[in-house]
Amino acid sequence: MDTPLTAYRGRFAPSPTGPLHEGSLVAALASWLDARAHGGAWLVRIEDVDGPRCPPGTSELILGQLAALGLVPDEPPVWQSRRGELYQAALDRLIATGHAYGCACTRAEIAAAYERTLGPRPKHGELVYPGTCRHGTQGRPARAWRFRVQGHIEWQDRRLGVQTQDLATEVGDFVLKRADGLWAYQLAVVVDDAEQGITDVVRGEDLADNTPRQIALQRALGLPTPRYLHTPLVLAADGHKLSKQNGAAAIDLTHPSERLREAATRLGLPPLPTKASAADTLAAALQAWRHRLPDSG
Ligand code: GLU
Repeated sequence: MDTPLTAYRGRFAPSPTGPLHEGSLVAALASWLDARAHGGAWLVRIEDVDGPRCPPGTSELILGQLAALGLVPDEPPVWQSRRGELYQAALDRLIATGHAYGCACTRAEIAAAYERTLGPRPKHGELVYPGTCRHGTQGRPARAWRFRVQGHIEWQDRRLGVQTQDLATEVGDFVLKRADGLWAYQLAVVVDDAEQGITDVVRGEDLADNTPRQIALQRALGLPTPRYLHTPLVLAADGHKLSKQNGAAAIDLTHPSERLREAATRLGLPPLPTKASAADTLAAALQAWRHRLPDSG
């Protein structure tokens, strides 16, 4: 049974691989609106576990962009790069309870084992780990740590409805700590959402298929599962997802209220007044969001 949820606590959790862009602003605004509409707290967490991909100064840049838009967190932001001890404690618990195991495989070995047991590898996406080290590394040193998945997960998204994923066949035993010593997003996000008392995760739809992995980790660690709302993706003109990886431009903050209005439109809110201040635009967006509750779809 999931633990009952208490006072609303939401968060925006950018990876500081680049400045805020039109896509990430939609997630930031939706999480802020939903927290405010529920009279809850809104937090910002800087997800900089993948240090080499985070240029120095980017998190400060993002916090400055949010502030210019009137999106100010209710508590000081936290940085994942400073929370390794929490992730290690969670990994130790997962190892002790048999939910995590050491894996000695290199990338090339995984690809070769995949082809031997499961056939040609898919052109895109992560390989499903074929389970080589599930029952031990045959004396080889562990390079990475993996989560032992079981069966399928069914979950409810406030916009997308009931979702299911077969973790065993679609994802496989996924990495918690990488061979290069970096923490995997899945573990860090689960530990932090629980430690920060997050009741509601509001984020972009591109992350929806990570949710079953996170729910499986929550269950293995005895942590509550938050409610989830995945917001519509913002596509570039060529139909691809807008992301920092494909060079989405930083938002132009000369007129913050215009950016807020555009993001609100992308969330499907009715047109907001023009020529309003950022604060008035946020207030109008909040009223529209409240109107759309309880499902916010
Ligand atoms: N850090 C992730 C990103 O920027 C978001 C994680 C989340 O909201 O769970 O894509």
